Amino acid sequence: MSGVDFRLRPFVARPPRAPWIVDALAGEPPPVPFGGEASVDVCIIGGGFSGLWTALRLREQDAALSIAVLEADRCGTGASGRNSGAAGHWWTRLPLLLKCLGAEDAMAVIRASEAAVADIHDFVAQHGIACEARFERSVWAVTAPGRPGAWGPMMRAAEGIGVTPPQRPVPAEEMRAMYGDAPYFAGVMEERATRLNPAALARGLRRVALAQGIAVHEATAVVRVSSAADHVLVETAGGRIRAQQVVLAANAWMANLAPFRDEVMVLSSDMVATDPIPQVLAARGLRGRPGGTNSRMMLNYGGVTPAGQVYLGRGAGVLGFGGRVTAGMHHAPAQLRQLQADFRHLYPELRDQPLPHGWGGPIDRSTTGMPQFGTLAADPRVHYALGYTGHGVGATSLCGRVLASAVLGRRDHWHNIGALMGRVRNGRYPAEPLRYLAASVVQGAVRRKEIAERDGRKPGRLDVALAPLALATLPAKP
Ligand SMILES: Cc1cc2nc3c(=O)[nH]c(=O)nc-3n(C[C@H](O)[C@H](O)[C@H](O)COP(=O)(O)OP(=O)(O)OC[C@H]3O[C@@H](n4cnc5c(N)ncnc54)[C@H](O)[C@@H]3O)c2cc1C
Repeated sequence: MSGVDFRLRPFVARPPRAPWIVDALAGEPPPVPFGGEASVDVCIIGGGFSGLWTALRLREQDAALSIAVLEADRCGTGASGRNSGAAGHWWTRLPLLLKCLGAEDAMAVIRASEAAVADIHDFVAQHGIACEARFERSVWAVTAPGRPGAWGPMMRAAEGIGVTPPQRPVPAEEMRAMYGDAPYFAGVMEERATRLNPAALARGLRRVALAQGIAVHEATAVVRVSSAADHVLVETAGGRIRAQQVVLAANAWMANLAPFRDEVMVLSSDMVATDPIPQVLAARGLRGRPGGTNSRMMLNYGGVTPAGQVYLGRGAGVLGFGGRVTAGMHHAPAQLRQLQADFRHLYPELRDQPLPHGWGGPIDRSTTGMPQFGTLAADPRVHYALGYTGHGVGATSLCGRVLASAVLGRRDHWHNIGALMGRVRNGRYPAEPLRYLAASVVQGAVRRKEIAERDGRKPGRLDVALAPLALATLPAKP
């Protein structure tokens, strides 16, 4: 064991917060940072879904374990509370899973991803977490004329091995009935997709963790993690924790560390939202319009909250050089302007409605579109979860199971699922500065091409030629 010595970049909390985070934090007392010295069995760095689920699944299995979660800001203020709350599974990854694992193991991983989403429903029901977890229709659509549906490879792969994905093709008349004159040209639909309020879930997980004796220290940024002979030392600005095991769950904020740098690329996902407008939606026949994603490479995702707040997001925004989180990933006016134009296009009935909310957040794009849950060879007491690629709401629940087994050294079902996931590979990213330069060029081409398609113009030939390279450099489709 060579040991680790990681120095984390200084953490800077930046506004704006997603509206659901603002709501979820309202009335909560200010956090008290950790200070002094402590020793614990397990120290978890990052209080998002990955960190909190891991802490909670550990507690379920070992009531005596001392567990500390260190969160630089407030639990759920990272990607976990900022997102659109769509908790998905890995059916969309079926072609790659088949290539890497074969049919039986590919389906074992997909079933595990479905079980992880079911786990969220069970947990929030059991612990009374009011996070609006619900089943809704979700459509994966084509929103530019003449473009193919991105679901084709998944559907063909499923047919090839005789399994049925949860999405069904939507006939043209049904698409028209749901979307009227809005530009929805074809689609597949999942009838029971999971949606929830992510910030309310994160705050609820924190509440349960505290109630179960897990120490959760907010406003406590870790600055260094280093191996010692009989512990792993976790240092913060005002304190030191000696841990028997450490879980790195800081998501995009740890993507620049040496073991992960070539495995993930950091870039923003951005969102805009209306205020709650239930009467407007009812009057304009939009209350029942399903949310979902489209088939663009820089895909849009969106929907309507139970309160009638309409939101739309888009992946593949601001790029981070060398796996770094930058200020523009939290708020990028140029990205938000483009996203507002997407909103006006996809919701023509709401063109007169203001979009007072706009924010972004960093996502960690792996080369496979799937995360890895693992243990570092340099120090087997250090575990990690990374690479959610903007699809972590469901997958972080699986992370909790897999990393709990890793920490406890269990060779169980979840260990096996984590090991299978470790065999899903799709190359590595090129080193910097080549990666940033290539991604910037290709991202520009994709953006221009997709805006031209959205606006009914012919895209430039160079942009059409460069766009397919995005599969190697930009976030994977859902
Ligand atoms: C705008 C947006 C929309 C998205 N939409 C969806 C969606 O609809 N569906 C979906 O499945 N996924 C979505 N995602 C992705 C999903 O939110 C993430 O994959 C998931 O939340 C990752 O959880 P996490 O706990 O690993 O990371 P995070 O929630 O980012 O948690 C990491 C935590 O580490 C903390 N941290 C950072 N540095 C330090 C440090 N030095 N010390 C201590 N703590 C530190 C951060 O403050 C943060 O709270 C979206 C992401 C974004 C940004």
